[in-house]
Amino acid sequence: MNPNGLTIDAARSAIQERKATAFDLVDAHYEKIAHEDEKIGAYLTLSKERALEKAEQIDVLARKGDPLPPLAGVPVGIKDVLCTRGVRTTAGSKILGNFIPPYDCTAVARMESAGAIVLGKLNCDEFAMGSSNENSAWKPVHNPRDLSRVPGGSSGGSAAAVAADMAVATLGSDTGGSIRQPASFCGVVGLMPTYGRVSRYGLIAFASSLDRIGPFSKNVKDAATVLGVIAGRDPMDSTSAETPVPDYAAELNKGARGLRVGVAKEYFGEGLDGEVRASVEAAIQKLASLGCEIVPISLPHMKYAIPVYYIIATVEASSNLVRFDGVRYGYRAKDARTLSQMYRRTRDQGFGAEVKRRIMLGTYALSAGYYDAYYLKAQRVRTLLTRDFEEAFKQVDAIVTPTSPTAAFKLGEKSDDPLAMYLADIYTVTADLAGICGISIPCGETKEKLPIGMQILGKHFDESTILRVAHAYEQAG
Ligand code: GLN
Repeated sequence: MNPNGLTIDAARSAIQERKATAFDLVDAHYEKIAHEDEKIGAYLTLSKERALEKAEQIDVLARKGDPLPPLAGVPVGIKDVLCTRGVRTTAGSKILGNFIPPYDCTAVARMESAGAIVLGKLNCDEFAMGSSNENSAWKPVHNPRDLSRVPGGSSGGSAAAVAADMAVATLGSDTGGSIRQPASFCGVVGLMPTYGRVSRYGLIAFASSLDRIGPFSKNVKDAATVLGVIAGRDPMDSTSAETPVPDYAAELNKGARGLRVGVAKEYFGEGLDGEVRASVEAAIQKLASLGCEIVPISLPHMKYAIPVYYIIATVEASSNLVRFDGVRYGYRAKDARTLSQMYRRTRDQGFGAEVKRRIMLGTYALSAGYYDAYYLKAQRVRTLLTRDFEEAFKQVDAIVTPTSPTAAFKLGEKSDDPLAMYLADIYTVTADLAGICGISIPCGETKEKLPIGMQILGKHFDESTILRVAHAYEQAG
């Protein structure tokens, strides 16, 4: 069965109706990976044995004619920050180059219980720190739409694998934009659920108050289906919420007519590329023609979002990454004579430049004398940003923005300029800081045929509404 353009619905029904076997699907995807991935670089590790075993289970079920679970036989890829039992998980870092987790991340376990077949682990920026996938310790990922360009990051491999039909859907993580921005650069759908909606158990932590797990897919309905599978309380993550999980795919049919869609002027200011602006404005017009009411709103503290994010995220990272010390697991420097030498050399040799930069920034912001000036102040401004959204959501049901100020940039274009790289996260970090949900969907192309993404933001635990808006837009063609 040809993987090109294959969606969850199509894959699952083909298996249910016995037009294809799960084995065929897995085989076709591995073949595609064998042909395409050398030039793209999305996969770091393939889990063939596990995939074939799972395919066999699904095929036995299908032969019995039993009703199949929602992701039955669907070949998926998993970002390499999500632990997979018995399958190497590196977080894109040399320090975890030989790490084989003894357990599965809850989101992955739920995908597999719903019938999904894990093809392998996907490339990403080291510890999910980056916006271009160039911080992977292993190799960069090339954007399938233009190989000279980045796929976005940090979940670059997850976005590229879906865009190149090397998986039907994938999982990624978003701390400051890492699902939505690569989705927009690669022309696929990327959904960041509300903080607490999906368990983080088994996600290698970057910034624990921001990290989310969510899907990449070829259409909005597939994102809704995957979210329905991975969402919900998990006793292994005390921050996962009890809030009931709706039938997201069924909710889509409610359409978008009558929904109030906010447009904030702060998202259309200086630095926004003209072609991106034109596409997103045209998309907003289309939403109006579909019966949405367009409401101008304001998020006055947005200008502080980047500095606040890069303080909070680095502070949390500096603390989370303490555990990589060469003692418990992962890489250990071979040539050390004392304990402190071993720590120092392990971390010096194991971490890449961007991770070290963040550990230093975060440690500085937390240190005596600077804590109040940086960390505490950043936390206060985070509250103001969250209130901006609370105020806005009194007036509107969803907010539409560009996902990124530009389309995909060239490999190497920003890699020597960390500040320029950080500034590109301007439209995505706000939603992470506020804990709300967001989705990026394709909304056009530049003259050079590069995808443009539109971001739709929603209230806490109101993924249904943003999925409805996204689906209505997508269906309108
Ligand atoms: N680009 C942002 C960063 O570098 C976001 C990364 C992410 O969401 N994991 O921190």
